[in-house]
This record gives sequence, structure tokens and C-alpha cells, in this order.
Amino acid sequence: MKKSLTIAEVNELVTGINKLSRNLWWSWNQEAQDLFQQLSPRGWQHLFHNAAAVLREVSEYELRVHLQDSEFANKVKAVLKDFDHYLTDQTTWGHKNAPALHKNPVAYFSAEFGFHESLPISAGGLGILAGDHAKSASDLGLGFVGIGLFYREGYFQQAIDSNNWQTEYYNPVDPKNVPVEPVFDADGDRLVCSVEIGMNVVAFQVWRVNVGRVPIYLLDTNLPENEQLYRDLTTRVYGGDTTTRIMQEILLGIGGIRLLRALGKEPSTFHMNEGHAAFLTLELVREKIAAGKTLAEAQAITKTECIFTTHTPVEAGHDRFSSELMNYSLQRYILQLQMPFQELLGLGRVKPADEKEPFCMTVLALKLSRAANAVSELHGQVSRHMWQNLYGVPEAQVPIGHITNGIHLLGWMKGSVRQFWRRKLNENTNGGTQLFREKFGSDWAAAVNDVEFWQKMTDPAFVSDEELWALRYSLRRELIEFARRRLIQQNPRVTPGDYIRFDHLLNPDALTIGFARRFATYKRAPLIFQQFDNIVKLVRDKQRPVQFVFAGKAHPRDDEGKRFIQQIIHLSKHSELAGSLVFIENYDIHVARQMVSGCDIWLNNPRRPLEASGTSGMKASCHGCLGFSILDGWWREGYDGTNGFAIGEDSHSPNVEEQDRVDSAHLYRTLTEQVVPQFFNRDTNGIPRQWIQRIRRAMCTLVPQFTTDRMVKEYTNRYYLTK
Ligand SMILES: *Cc1c(COP(=O)(O)O)cnc(C)c1O
Repeated sequence: MKKSLTIAEVNELVTGINKLSRNLWWSWNQEAQDLFQQLSPRGWQHLFHNAAAVLREVSEYELRVHLQDSEFANKVKAVLKDFDHYLTDQTTWGHKNAPALHKNPVAYFSAEFGFHESLPISAGGLGILAGDHAKSASDLGLGFVGIGLFYREGYFQQAIDSNNWQTEYYNPVDPKNVPVEPVFDADGDRLVCSVEIGMNVVAFQVWRVNVGRVPIYLLDTNLPENEQLYRDLTTRVYGGDTTTRIMQEILLGIGGIRLLRALGKEPSTFHMNEGHAAFLTLELVREKIAAGKTLAEAQAITKTECIFTTHTPVEAGHDRFSSELMNYSLQRYILQLQMPFQELLGLGRVKPADEKEPFCMTVLALKLSRAANAVSELHGQVSRHMWQNLYGVPEAQVPIGHITNGIHLLGWMKGSVRQFWRRKLNENTNGGTQLFREKFGSDWAAAVNDVEFWQKMTDPAFVSDEELWALRYSLRRELIEFARRRLIQQNPRVTPGDYIRFDHLLNPDALTIGFARRFATYKRAPLIFQQFDNIVKLVRDKQRPVQFVFAGKAHPRDDEGKRFIQQIIHLSKHSELAGSLVFIENYDIHVARQMVSGCDIWLNNPRRPLEASGTSGMKASCHGCLGFSILDGWWREGYDGTNGFAIGEDSHSPNVEEQDRVDSAHLYRTLTEQVVPQFFNRDTNGIPRQWIQRIRRAMCTLVPQFTTDRMVKEYTNRYYLTK
């Protein structure tokens, strides 16, 4: 008979599993997720795959009983051992290559962070990138701390009304149910700091998100001592009007620096992820003036401490505030800053003395940073053009570089795909994989982030066409099942008698085209349907059927974006397309993961050059889903003619209508002349060899290249470590 655990041993495991549930490391560790799923399979599904919520749903008594099952207890022990090793490992890339950052970390400021579907504090790509940046900083063992805001209602949840119009609702986040922890001061009380906003002093408390080794601090003004206006400041992501916006940004930038000081942190570099955080430069200047520096000295030193990443060429993405609003919002703070108000306004203007020019956060960030970068090569060119007049030098000399975005690979990889690659790694039936065992031992995470691992994808002995095709079939099936479940849920009039109807939605054999992102108009979601009759022909083709899965949210005040959603849903109900075009509501990280893995083709047709980088397509490659995109952002660098499909040329017309017309024609031509024929070109065993060759090329050329591991290493070598 097996010996049962002692009380002390059970206590230790209970403590360990509680700690684990409050560290997002589980969100990219399959074994850890399996534990929580096993504790409450339905809870796992219904509570947004959230370990913290599952542990609250399972009573401690129940947990203790489970731990008496030696099989379960052993799994817990193994996961906790890995977790402990992860947290304490001193041999990371960061320990070797950036040890100085452990004493003086990088402080990374971002108005949004997309970590996990259970913590909806991100509106889109910018936040997802910030979340992935933090996860890779943790994996690499970098000295790194993040600053953001704790939005109690997060970003909105999407519902579609009977007019196919997007409506918004909010699910308040209960901190106890999400993977965050309250931050305390030295006396064990809640840490509370404050910041001057308008005429008031606004207090804020803090929540910490443990992202592996990396802490992210989220500021929260919802405290009884604040007036209601200020309590509501951190309610929603980009909620309210410009007044809310500037006040959120004062909190983020100025409050964030105050918090770091209260925590005793001495960052070596302050990284502003987009202009939202640029007020942090003012607080750095204020600190230096208070320490006896002149204004000029304080600005010069601050400039050596900051770096700035710009994320969009779209005008609306650059915050601009009127002098009146600046004056109103900073009236109390400016007294402390001891800077003439006109001088402050000048810091946010291209022409400092131009009183008509509003205050621009991007300009402030550019002026007070030692380095600035865009997020892809083309976006670098566009940004240098955009800001040339700020520098008065030839475009090529404008000091804005670029580091192309990436994704946190393990975080995006679907569970079944992790298992697939892990099995491939463990099968030591040939020399190649033996080599991996020697190189990585059992460190699967290191292997999967290695260029060599993905180079093996061109080797049929490592993974055969048949295996890859079977993987594609199972992933497409998983997406279709997911879509059917979601379509039932999102249709309030469905009764169980109707379920069978939903079993006919989408076809497991059809070429499945995915499109999901924010419904910003420049992303042109409905573009493909400009060729409506032709698309209908493709969809109705019995031999070579094509189908579409769409998802995405429009900003609550973007009626044009909402009209795009309305058009797509309207088309999905059209008799010719019904069942072959679905719109999945409430796009989030979970929906994104289902779609980038289950679709065969990832469509992206932004109006060039407005897609600064784009990242959703990067999430597709490791699942064998191919890119099909305009040569904008990252795809212009990733596409090499063999690893996916390009829409149009490496150029664009300056005329918007012309561009839409040309792109729509190119899109349709590539689809019918390349994508569809190659997908359905099968050999006698039913395998599309040519298609799978493209998948192999995508895996080996794109997966290891477009990761945040590569990206964060570049930031470290080029910006964090060089002053
Ligand atoms: C990846 C991702 C994005 C960004 O997608 P783009 O194609 O870069 O616009 C936005 N939202 C969610 C939920 C994502 O997962």
C-alpha cells in the first residue's frame, strides 16, 4: 500500500499550489494548467482557464483530499519543482548577458498589458505585445519591472444586438479571482502612494501580477479616500473622454515613478511603451530639480535614462492635449515641478513656441529619450518621415530605429500543439533528435525557442507530411467545435432542439480562412467581400470549398468599425454564405489562440503602411497556419516567397480608393491562383505536399525569428545596456 502524505507535506503542497496559482507562469506551462484543469474541469472552462479562480472554487478541504491521491500529489510535486527551478535559476541569458540589470532593472511602462484572458486589461495588439515582452523578460531572466493600471472593469465585452450592431458590457474584475496580489508596505499595511491630478491629491493602491520572475505593478485609484471622479479613473481601459485619458496618463507616468521609489527600486532605464506613459519624464525631471539640479541639467539627465517605442503611424494613436486641459490637469503638479508652464507645453510641441500646437505625448517622449524605435523596418521609415520636422535633419538621419515585434511563443502555442512538438522532441528514433537531447536535456522550453529546433521542420524524418497534415486536421476540427459551441452560446434564441443545426456549421475539409483583430477601419475587415460574387463561388465549390472565421472588437466610439462588424455579420446570415462564414463574438486571447491554430490561412489586409507591425500572424506559424497578407509591418520582413502568401507588391498607391481597389483585386487573384489550388492539390494519399512544404518553410523561417525572446534580446543589447 502506498504511504499517504503527512499533514506537513500536504500543507507544503497547498501553500505551493496557492503560490503557483498567483503566478502567470502557469499560463505558459502545460503541466501546471493540467493540474488546475483536473481539479475542476468545468471551472477551468467557465472561469477563463484561470488557476486563481479555480482554486477559489475548489475548497481547501477538497484540495487536501485530492492531494491524498499519490498520483495527483506527484504531479503537483513535479510542477512545483519545475516552478521553483524556474524562479531560482541563476544561469539564465539575463544572468550571463545583462547582470547589471538585476541591481538596476528596466522599468517598463504600458497603459495596457495583455497577459491572459482572465485579466482583460488590454484593448489589442499593443497590450498583447507588452504582456509578451514581460513573459520573455522573465524567461530570459532579465532585471525587469512593469508598471500599468488596474482597470477594474477592464476592456469591454462584446455582444451583438438584433441589428447586428456591437454593444458593450463590462464584467467587473474581482481581484481575488484573478492572478494578482495586493502590495503591502514595510508595516504590512496596503501600500498607498499619491499623485497630484487637477487640484487634488489622488491616492492609489497597487496590485502585483507575478509574470514568472517578473513583477508587474498595477495602480488602482479605487479607494474610499478619493472623490468619485478619481475612484473611477482606473475603471476602464481607455474609458471616458480626453480628460479621463490625461488623468490616467498622469497616474501611470508620474504615479508609476512614485511607486517605484516607494518600492525602493532604482531602475537604470525607463522604457515607455507608447506615448501614454510619457509623463514619467516630468517626474524624473522633478526629482532631479528637487535634488538641486537646474532645469536644463535635470532634462539632460532624464534624457539619458529613458527610451521610447512608438507603435503606430495612425494619427489618433498619438495623444494630443489642449493647453487648457494640460493646465487644468497639471495645475497642482506644475507647482512642484518648478518648470514654467510655457516651457512644459513646449516639450510636447514640434515648434515649442507655437501656441496653437496641442501638447503631444509622442513629442514629449521623443524629446526626453536617449533612443526611440519603431516596431518594424517599414514602420521605422514611416516614423522617420512622420517626425522629421521635429529634428530638422534629413529623413535617414532622424534618430528613430526599429526593432520588429514578436510573440511569446510558449504562451501562444495551443496545448495540443505543445504536446505534439514535445512528442517529436522526445522521440529519439533518429540522430537528429538525439542531438537535441544532448543540447537541451529535458528542457523543452529552451528547445522550442531554439532556431535549430525549427530548422528540423524541413526534415521529413523529424516530422512527416502525414503527421503534419493530421495535426492540421485536428486543429481545424478543434476550431470548428469551438466555433459551434460559441455560436450556440451567442445566440440567445437557440434551444437544445436546434443544436443539430449548429453541427453543420463549417466544414472540416474546407480551406479555412481566419481574420481577427481590432476592427480599426484601416484594417479593412470587409475588403475580401468586395468581390462578393466571386467569394460566393469559392464558398459554394463542392470540390474545393473555402470558409471564413471572423472575430474582432470595434472601439466603443468607432461607428465606422462597428459598421464593418455589422456588414460581416450580415453577410454571415446571407443564404449563400450561411454556415461558411461565422463571426465569433468577444475576441480575446482565448479566441485568438483557437483561431490562429485552427485556421489554414491567416488573412491580413491593412491599408499599407498603417499596420506598424501586426503580431497575430506570428502566432499562426507554429501551428502550421500560413500567412496571407499585404506586405506591411512584420510580413514585409517575414515573407520570402516560399513561406506563405503575399497580397500585392512591396509598394502602395497614395490614393486610398485606388489602394482599396488594387488590393482587393490582388487579394482575390492570389487566393484563386495560388492559395486555393495549392491547398487542394492532393497526391494519391490525399496529402497536399506543396502546401505542407510551405508550412515547413513557415515554421523554420518565421517561428524562431518573430518571438519576443529575440525581440527582448535586441532591446537589451541595443537599448537597455547602452547609455
Ligand atoms: C494578437 C492579438 C492582437 C493583435 O493582432 P494584430 O493582428 O496585430 O492586429 C489583438 N488582440 C488580441 C486578443 C490578440 O491576441
